[in-house]
Amino acid sequence: MNAETNESTKTPTPLLGLSVAELAEIATGAPSYTAKQIRAFCFDGKSIDDMTSLGKDLRARLKRDYVSVPVTVEKVFSSADGSKKYLFKMTDGNLVEGVYMPHDYGNTLCVSTQVGCRMGCAFCASGMDGLIRNLSAAEILGQVVAVNSAEGGTAKKRAVTNIVLMGSGEPLDNYGNVLRFLDEVSAEDGLNVSERNISLSTSGLADRMRNLADSGHKVTLSVSLHSPFDDKRSQLMPVNRKYHIADLMAAARYYFEKTGRRVIVEYTLIDGENDDEASAKELVKITRGFPAHINLIRLNEVKEKSLKRPDAKKANEFLALLQSMGASATLRRSFGGDIEGACGQLRRRVLAEKNAEKRIAQPATDNESEGRKESAKPRRSKFTTV
Ligand code: SF4
Repeated sequence: MNAETNESTKTPTPLLGLSVAELAEIATGAPSYTAKQIRAFCFDGKSIDDMTSLGKDLRARLKRDYVSVPVTVEKVFSSADGSKKYLFKMTDGNLVEGVYMPHDYGNTLCVSTQVGCRMGCAFCASGMDGLIRNLSAAEILGQVVAVNSAEGGTAKKRAVTNIVLMGSGEPLDNYGNVLRFLDEVSAEDGLNVSERNISLSTSGLADRMRNLADSGHKVTLSVSLHSPFDDKRSQLMPVNRKYHIADLMAAARYYFEKTGRRVIVEYTLIDGENDDEASAKELVKITRGFPAHINLIRLNEVKEKSLKRPDAKKANEFLALLQSMGASATLRRSFGGDIEGACGQLRRRVLAEKNAEKRIAQPATDNESEGRKESAKPRRSKFTTV
């Protein structure tokens, strides 16, 4: 439970992810097995109304102050490539995105960890308005439960088999809630997802990468590099001004040493910015010496930004160059190009449409007094220091 979120927004407290002991306290007076039942119902994505095996009085009591899953599916957009973009609504009205990607080996869901992001990466739509707020563990979990249920799965027979923390937000900037999410999503009486099937992507908060290595969790760590040169990387990713590439790679190596897990180096190819021969050579050099795999992806263009996606030929040449130097590397196919594929684009579009509707529906003088949770001017928090 994120008491802070609950208090500040006066929204109902989520039952999802509460421990059996916490639920037993809430369901005082009910038979002792009730808490376990409620916990299981929440992971199956049931609403309190649907928990029909609970007594009527208990359900009414729960509904006064609680919600089972604090996330609802606002919209779903299907791509011709089989992926689906989900727009989620939190109980306070904030919106975040997720992407569901079916593969031969299972189905991957990419979830968000924050509303907005303060990292300010030059190629990203999610960070354009800064950070609005952290998502609670239940809200991150709720995205998985909502999609699993929408795709016909249950907690025991999941439709979602793999999870990537790569939607909007920097997961390690919301460290405590992300750790609690990992505990719950992998719990046997939770969703029982093996940490081998969970990837966490970071823009490079080196200190937190070390903390994660020491935490006992063994998720796959993906480090977003995007340039092997400090000056270029600082332009693309302001976080590099605090944690330089040498710090980042040392922390990546530490993660491997502590967990035994190969680190993934994410590298978005941007036309004319980081797809040249010198970048390829330096990239191979800095990822040598410990098991790392380089995941290339061509930029998903964001219309408000001038950065361009390189053509497939250029991307394949870059890949061949890496491989000719002995690097382990692949070029990932990008999903959802026809449904606002870049992270944060869909949310921005829907918010713009909602704001336009509001402007039409209301006299201009009322606009300022509107209590806008998702306004065109969110409370900004941009990266300075972390
Ligand atoms: S790429 Fe990730 S870390 Fe960078 S601004 Fe976007 S959401 Fe934040």
